[in-house]
This record gives sequence, structure tokens and C-alpha cells, in this order.
Amino acid sequence: MFHKVLIANRGEIACRIIRTCQDMGIATVAIYSDADRDALHVEMADEAVFIGPPAPSESYLNMDAVIQAAKDTGATAVHPGYGFLSENAGFAKKLAKAGITFIGPSAKSIEAMGEKSKAKALMEKAGVPLVPGYHGEKQDMTFLKGVARKIGFPVLIKASAGGGGKGMRIVEDANGFKAGLESAKREAQSAFGNDHVLIEKYLTKPRHVEIQVFGDSQGNFVYLFERDCSLQRRHQKVVEEAPAPGLSDALRQKMGEAAVDAAAAIKYVGAGTVEFLLDEDGSFYFMEMNTRLQVEHPVTEEITGTDLVEWQLHVANGGELPLKQHELTMNGHAIEVRLYAEDPQNDFLPAAGKINYLRYPEESEHVRVESAVFESPMGDGDQVSIHYDPMIAKIVTHGQTRDQAIEHMIEALSDTRITGLKTNLEFLQNAVMHPAFQAGNVSTNFIDVYHDDLIPRNEAPDDLTLALASIGVMHHVLGRNTRPVGALSPWDDTTGWRQNGIAPQAIHFSHGDEDIMREVLVHKAGHFSVIDDDGYPQYFEVHTSRDDLAFDILVDGQWLNASIIVDGAKVDVLYDGLHYRFDWHDPLADFEGDAGGAGKLSAPMPGKIVAIKVNVGDQVKKGAPLVILEAMKMEHTITAPFDGEVQAVNANPGDQVDEKLELVSFK
Ligand code: ADP
Repeated sequence: MFHKVLIANRGEIACRIIRTCQDMGIATVAIYSDADRDALHVEMADEAVFIGPPAPSESYLNMDAVIQAAKDTGATAVHPGYGFLSENAGFAKKLAKAGITFIGPSAKSIEAMGEKSKAKALMEKAGVPLVPGYHGEKQDMTFLKGVARKIGFPVLIKASAGGGGKGMRIVEDANGFKAGLESAKREAQSAFGNDHVLIEKYLTKPRHVEIQVFGDSQGNFVYLFERDCSLQRRHQKVVEEAPAPGLSDALRQKMGEAAVDAAAAIKYVGAGTVEFLLDEDGSFYFMEMNTRLQVEHPVTEEITGTDLVEWQLHVANGGELPLKQHELTMNGHAIEVRLYAEDPQNDFLPAAGKINYLRYPEESEHVRVESAVFESPMGDGDQVSIHYDPMIAKIVTHGQTRDQAIEHMIEALSDTRITGLKTNLEFLQNAVMHPAFQAGNVSTNFIDVYHDDLIPRNEAPDDLTLALASIGVMHHVLGRNTRPVGALSPWDDTTGWRQNGIAPQAIHFSHGDEDIMREVLVHKAGHFSVIDDDGYPQYFEVHTSRDDLAFDILVDGQWLNASIIVDGAKVDVLYDGLHYRFDWHDPLADFEGDAGGAGKLSAPMPGKIVAIKVNVGDQVKKGAPLVILEAMKMEHTITAPFDGEVQAVNANPGDQVDEKLELVSFK
């Protein structure tokens, strides 16, 4: 076996690979950019090599730097993880030349499956069913539009080199074709340096069902069953599970065998995933093959009891597949959710920034956390960088049945607490609690269809939430007044200290436009009453739990666990998978509201201006596109928040702009 492996990746996948290497007694080398000096994967690895600036093209994608790092540290194998160089045939070749093992398939296999168009042509030959469409060389507008007409709208335009849902546009009718094609090509060019596209019939209610396959260098193949990854936003997965709900054994076997045929057609070695669209009538169509480990591989590990990274290392070292097809069985059900820094209320716009407070659920036989960033109990969290994928962690649960796996997930999500930036936590909670999800009625349009049920609604906080916020503020104020640094929390004070005897303290908040006041009585340390609008007091007994900002609270004979974080004038209350944010009107602070007001539109994140759609003096309607910004390799359209007239445009196409820069102002 290899004695030292370099992990050419970052984030949760780097950490996950390091863990398996550690279990196998293999030394590990991490690589890191300037943005990742203090990252978790760097801390976990035995050695770490700096390879360049934050931009991936200058570090994690810099093949020569990565290979040099392997040489310098004496690593004899490189695991590419997913993304970055994992599907780069040139990298596999360069490593081979340097005498270093690439933990993945041959450069030839990567090339064969690397472009969707070529892969489809190959699969067509091997007799694997394809979605009707065009995947040839011709690229001119008129021709492709004609193809789309022939296939019948809606169609899907896809970047051949695509991945991560980028360079993909649904076109509903002939009128929208030109704009869709241009935009898909532009995004493809920017993300992949290649604007070749293919066209497919757009299936309106398919499921995404993919098969995990494995091959070894002796020519053996197995499939490790399927994953259903139908819950997607922007054509990207957010919730995955194994097995696929309701899939019959016969269909499972048929799809598994088709996937093995696909792998065998290219003499595939290592871990791979064959992605299919499964239509309502049980027909399935090849979409693409990913020649690497998949983000969602843990659900397969959970139901098969395997460690796929261990299999990868074993096979890359020339070993035979550890199990034969008939030895592989499924046990129970597993679900994975991807916790992202993103804003579900703003079309899942990726977010970046500093995490303030982060707590994962406790791991157990039912709960597994694959995290990219440190837990941060006390307000000094890791950074989610604009340079990388904004995934914070994957939370995986396993149960004997699907219902049990869902139960564990609901609990795990309610124990996950994060503040400081926007995340999809509440959205995920809504998704796994949704009756349609629980009934197994999943398809790739699930999130669109149930959009209003799933997107957090900024509901007005109820009395319990307001009481929790008030208690958190009281805790903060008491700590500020009485606690020298390092002293016990006032909760733990047993001296019978009383705040002004029993006089209630008024606490003023606002939530959105609403001003709120609550009165709090401190009976003794950890014992409070909060008086609601009707003058009715509710009694609370409070104990700190796990960390200083999480509390076990007894109210009306029931225990609940909440995290309440007071950070300057902001108060975050998190419990049961809910997250409320208040502005606290601290009488001791110079309170400043949010800067900026109506009529100004700023860049939501640093990026490059792709197009300006308006001129000074234009009358625009609410929702009209104003500026197209490219950030995190995706296009974001900034639209008018109301009807108005454009007063100023402060950027030009091609400009690199900073977050918060006012791009357009209008009245
Ligand atoms: P990427 O490589 O960018 O992830 P894929 O080809 O894997 O792109 O497709 C991503 C997702 O887009 C699929 O999981 C599916 O939900 C959706 N999709 C792809 N092709 C089609 C199609 N022809 N009809 C309907 N949905 C599709």
C-alpha cells in the first residue's frame, strides 16, 4: 500500500480522505492556498504544502505546483477528491510521467467521459439509452434552433464540458432560444474555457438516479446500488439518499447492469458514477459518467457498510475489488443533506463571509458529519471564501428504514446551529419535513413545485421565540455587568444574586419593521419570567449546554435546546431548525441600523460585470434585469426591486467590482 498520499483538494472531501488514510496508517500531505492557511484539512494532515494564491487557477488547479508538492514530500500517490483536478486527463498523464499514482481512472477513461457530447456518442454505441437530443459538432445558432424545434420544446442546452449545473439553460420556446444559447455559452466559456454545447429534450418530471460503479485493473466490475439525487436547485443536488425510494429490485438490477456496461465499455478502473434520468414510466436515460468520487458517496457507504476511499486506494494500488456483486447487500436507508452558505430567498445565491457561531449535531451510529470548516462555539468562526464552493458540511443520517433516517435527519438539523452568514439550513429542514418528501414523491422539479413551502418565510416570531431572545439578551447583559473575564457564567451563580430585586427589565427589539418589547424578571440565577404583550408571565429555567451560547430550557414542563447569540446589536435565536434574527436596541450602545436604503443596488458579492442592461434615464419595471454580474463562476442577474427611473450606473462591462459597491441607483 502507498505509504504517503497527497490530497489535491480542500474542504470536507480533503478531510474525509485524510480520515481514511489515517485509519489505514497512510501518511497524508495536504495542500493549501493563501485563503486556506488555517483550514481544517491543513490541520488534520501530517504535512501541508503551500501552493499559491487563493484563486484556484493559481493553486489547487496548478498541476505543476501540486506535482512538485508530491515530489518534495515523497508522496507516491495523489488523491484528487472531486472538482479541481479530479477529472483532468492532463493531470493524470503528468502524474504518470512523474511516477506518481493518480487515485482515479486512466487518463483515457477520463477523456472518454470528460465531455458530455463525446460520452453520449460512446454510450450510444455501447447501447446505453440516451435522452433524445443532439450532441454533435455543429454549433451555429440557426442549426441548433432547428434541432430544438425538431426535438420539441422545452429543451435543455448543456455545456459539453459542464459540471455543477453551470452552462445549462432550459428553453421553453423558440423565442427564448437565442438568449438561452448565448447565456449558456457565455457561462460555459467562463467556467470551463470551452463553449461547446449539446441539446437535450427537457424531461419535465424525471428523477435523478445514479449508480455507483467500481472497476479494478483485473477487469472486474460491480455496482454499489443507486442514489436518488432528485432534490436539486439550479440543477445541483442538495439532498441525496440511498436506496432510491420505491425503486423495484428488477429496475435496480437493470440500471446497475447498464451502468456496469457503461464502465466496462471504457475499461474503467476505480470509483465512478453513472448518472441516469429516470422517467415516470420507468424508462431511464444515460446523462453522464463522473469519473471520480461523488460528493454524495457517503449515503452509499452507509447502506453498504463500505469505505469507498479505502476501495479507491486499494484498487489504485493494483488490488482486486474487495467484494463481488453477490456479496454486496443494502442495509437500511441513508440520507445526506448539503449545508451551503447560500440564500434560498434570493434564488440560492451563494454566500461568502465569516461564520460567527457554528455547531454541528453530535455524531453517533445514526449521524455522520463531513465538515469543511471548524466548529466555532464562541463567535470566531472560519471563513467561507468567495474563491471556493460554499459548502459548509454534509450531514448524513442512517436508519433501518427511510422514515427512521428522516427522523434522525430532522433531529440532526435541529441540532445544527450556524450564524454569521446566510445558509440553507432552514430550507433543508423544510425539505426533509415536507409530506411529499416523506412520502418519497421526489423528482427534479420538487423544489420548484413546493418552492413556497420550502423557502423560509421570515415569519413573525412567536411568543416563545421572543422570550428566548429576551432571555439571551438578559444573559448577555448580566454577563456584561457582573462577570469579570473568565468568571463563571451568571447561570451558574448560586449566591442568590438578584437583578434590582424583582423589578422587570424592559428589552427592546425589532424584527423586520416590527418593534417589540418584552419585560424580563430575574428570579435567581437561571430562573426567569418573561412577560408577553398581554401581561402574562411565562416561567423559564435555563442551563447552559455544550457551549456557552447553547441552553437547555425548561418551559411549560418541556425541555428545549436553543442557541441564543448576542453579537453587538444583533441577536440570533436558533432552535428546532428555525433561525430568527433580531436587532436589539441596546441602551448602552450607539445603535446604527443597516446602511444603504431603497433605490440603491449593490453587488451582492465581489465579481465581474458581464453586462449592463439599462442606461441613465431608463424607466424600468419591477423585476427588469439591470446588471449581470459573474461571481463564483456563475451569472447573477440583478433586477429592479420596484418600478422606477435609472439615475446612475456606476460600473462598466468588464469591471471587477467589490461587494456592496453601488452599481445602479434609481428612484
Ligand atoms: P452537471 O454535470 O452540470 O451537474 P448534469 O448533466 O449532470 O449536469 O445534469 C444536472 C441535472 O440537471 C440533472 O441531475 C437533472 O436534474 C437535470 N437535467 C439534466 N438533463 C436533463 C434533461 N434532459 N431533462 C430534465 N432535466 C435534466
